[in-house]
Amino acid sequence: MSETSFTPRVFSGIQPSGNLHLGNYLGALKRFVDWQAKDMETIYCMVDLHAITVWQDPADLKKSTRELCAGFIAAGLDPEKSILINQSQVPEHAQLAWIFNCVARMGWMQRMTQWKDKAGKNAQNASLGLFAYPALMAADILVYHATHVPVGEDQKQHLELTRDIAIKFNHDYGVNFFPETEPVIEGAATRVMSLRDGTKKMSKSDPSDASRINLIDDADTIAKKIRKAKTDPEALPSEVEGLEERPEARNLVNIYAAMAEMTVEQVLADVGGRQFSEFKPMLADLAVAKMSPITTEMARLMQHQDEIDKILAKGALRAREITAPILRQTYDIVGMVAPVSL
Ligand code: ATP
Ligand code: MG
Repeated sequence: MSETSFTPRVFSGIQPSGNLHLGNYLGALKRFVDWQAKDMETIYCMVDLHAITVWQDPADLKKSTRELCAGFIAAGLDPEKSILINQSQVPEHAQLAWIFNCVARMGWMQRMTQWKDKAGKNAQNASLGLFAYPALMAADILVYHATHVPVGEDQKQHLELTRDIAIKFNHDYGVNFFPETEPVIEGAATRVMSLRDGTKKMSKSDPSDASRINLIDDADTIAKKIRKAKTDPEALPSEVEGLEERPEARNLVNIYAAMAEMTVEQVLADVGGRQFSEFKPMLADLAVAKMSPITTEMARLMQHQDEIDKILAKGALRAREITAPILRQTYDIVGMVAPVSL
């Protein structure tokens, strides 16, 4: 069986670990919506089992999960077209992850930069789940035999690991059962940086709220955060080369380009030579224009939590039609005795 014999299928996820931000939107969510428009099955997941690899307040986790689902729908995901699920409601993810824990090697996990960044100097005190996280992510993807995974740049290494796990499983058991998944990292904003530090990724888990634009921020907050964003004293360049060694300037121009659906070259042709005092209000206006319809719709959807819960329950039923047979086949390949009917 060659790789191309797998039916093309798209899977991706976002953690309910805090507020959705502009990086999640441009690097992931907006791409999810683009893939939904293609003629392929699309499955999008709120990965709550990943979120608890670091401490989450239980009430906040429930709220963030529903808010994330509201964000998915407000941004344009249609629960009739895409399968929208909460990871913990589809138990096959965690079941396949255990098998992959036995396929992946300690050395592979130790090399993961996200593990090093998130565990930091305190690795002995980090959860075992944080270390094993990439094996669960491989299971999230491969339990659907997904072939395409749209993500931001920071997930590239985890997707390479997903391929390594699929290859080793196929090799060890002499099968061609799991596809070698393609990472899809595309667009002008695959790595949106913090507004406070152009060398750090914008993240939900950054303790500074000023570092990110949240999808739930109101217009004034967005304008204020952009006004206060770190920059340098130079005017904007007219050529892309002029952004080298200027991480903060490059970040703001990239954000503008991604939101305006322009290339960086086109943006610089328009704004080259201008000061940040002029460019920042332009960026703030654009951000508010693009985000506020999503924010308003998210707030409306959050008034109907029972509807959100039903969407997730329906999504889980549809998802399990795919995941249950794949897990059963995996168990059989590995040599587990299936229960007979009594
Ligand atoms: P956390 O800090 O809890 O890890 P996060 O902000 O990194 O949260 P994730 O849920 O880990 O968000 O990632 C969800 C998706 O958003 C992934 O595809 C990831 O690559 C993408 N993403 C996250 N941050 C950015 C960013 N700054 N720029 C572009 N894409 C991003
Ligand atoms: Mg992350």
